[in-house]
Amino acid sequence: MTALVWLRNDLRLHDNPALHAAAELRQGVIAVYVHCDAYVTRFPIAPSRLDFARRHLHLLTTELARHHIALQVLRVAQVSEIAPALARLARDHGISHCFFNAEYPLDELNRDQQVNQLLRAQGVTVKRCHDRVVIPPGKVRNEAGTPYKVFTPYKRKWLQLASLLPLRPVEAPAHQAALPCPSASAQDIDHLFEGQELRDLSTPWPAGEAVARARLQRFVAQDLDHYQTQRDLPAVAGTSGLSPYLAIGALSPRQALAAVLSRTGGDWNANAGVSTWISELIWREFYQHLVVDYPQVCMHRAMQVHTEAFPWRQAPEDFALWRQGRTGIPIIDAAMRQLNATGWMHNRLRMLVAMFLTKNLQIDWRWGERYFMEQLIDGDFAANNGGWQWSASTGTDAAPYFRIFNPITQSQRFDPRGQFIRLWVPELAGLSDKAIHAPHLAPSGPPPGYPAPMVDLGASRKATIALFASLGQAP
Ligand code: FAD
Repeated sequence: MTALVWLRNDLRLHDNPALHAAAELRQGVIAVYVHCDAYVTRFPIAPSRLDFARRHLHLLTTELARHHIALQVLRVAQVSEIAPALARLARDHGISHCFFNAEYPLDELNRDQQVNQLLRAQGVTVKRCHDRVVIPPGKVRNEAGTPYKVFTPYKRKWLQLASLLPLRPVEAPAHQAALPCPSASAQDIDHLFEGQELRDLSTPWPAGEAVARARLQRFVAQDLDHYQTQRDLPAVAGTSGLSPYLAIGALSPRQALAAVLSRTGGDWNANAGVSTWISELIWREFYQHLVVDYPQVCMHRAMQVHTEAFPWRQAPEDFALWRQGRTGIPIIDAAMRQLNATGWMHNRLRMLVAMFLTKNLQIDWRWGERYFMEQLIDGDFAANNGGWQWSASTGTDAAPYFRIFNPITQSQRFDPRGQFIRLWVPELAGLSDKAIHAPHLAPSGPPPGYPAPMVDLGASRKATIALFASLGQAP
């Protein structure tokens, strides 16, 4: 008898509850990774994120083999083939138990349900673990026992519950007596992705849980204490840069939290940097929970149903200018060019470009959501959908529709000397620190080759507020 671990976005050995539980049975472990072509066409995924998975699998097959755990890889065309493929593998290898770490979006829940049913029908014991969040969905509830819609009270309750947990990451899996079957070769792994567009971003984003843990340690030791003052400045590397590793599961949120608490001796509020960074991890968790509590967000629907009547513009040409970073608003253009070049964008800028698209251009947030998923190496459905719905004021009500960021004043505040703009919009590099935020307002106008703003920020803001006001309040 052998145990099976189905790996998905949890590509690590340490603090992997499913892998750990399988190894504890000490009856031989096979890990399996399934690549489904239909998933890649149905759900947008960045070529850099696919390649990130490929690079992690290369490392994992070797690391797992050192523990005498074999990695098998399977490629299927359709989602409906995943369960039968796993059932076949289980039959061929005499699998008695199957473990996996939960994924929360609706399609993933349905997929896992199918696998669960088929394997159980075959006599396999199936166990679903939780690694993507510190507190599993359904546990953070208000006095009435219902889910929170607003972050601040959610966070208060989350902190109460988390402070009672041990928060100790689980060990890497125990070494097994022998490899139950051969491990996937490098060619097997590459074959999974053949014919698919891949983008190698290994220089900024090297693969591996060792890299992720080292980045975490460095951030906690050197940058955490300054996080509160630096995190909003896109020209400064003041954030952890861990999102790609958390998204693909090379790092767990519990490992991130444990590293902070170990540094502070268990003090959750050691300084403003510590409490603010923990707060960001809780935002991440909030959005993971929302997709379970408000599953309509997994079906391209607004979390706040009354906002669905908003008449979003279908404007493909304007959308193309936004995508290319040719809007005529320097901070927006710099941000979009950073995204296109690096597969990543600073959080402050994600909020700015999302608000600009939805509130100034009035373009459907779903267009932006999709484009982000097509580009981001840290693309994560829950965080991305949550961020877009927050910015569009269709989601959690922390961003009332009348509070619309002005990208020019935000630029003056968070990139005061225009360093970030100069880096990504070189046509503006020669402008003064004052003129660079709004070159159209400078006496000489924008330099040749740089466009005038594609939209009047003030007028579009007013029009959007009026449209939102006409929708009424949430019931
Ligand atoms: P740090 O500031 O170091 O934060 C640590 C970790 O906390 C991050 O790695 C991330 O996992 C989590 N986190 C931080 N801020 C947020 C937040 N606002 N919401 C949720 N989690 C957060 N994050 C993704 O991981 N994937 C996405 O697809 C994604 N799409 C977004 C789309 C929009 C429109 C917006 C506004 C935000 C989005 N975010 C997304 C959240 C956030 O921008 C990134 O997590 C952050 O920029 C990653 O940088 P970092 O790792 O240096 O973060």
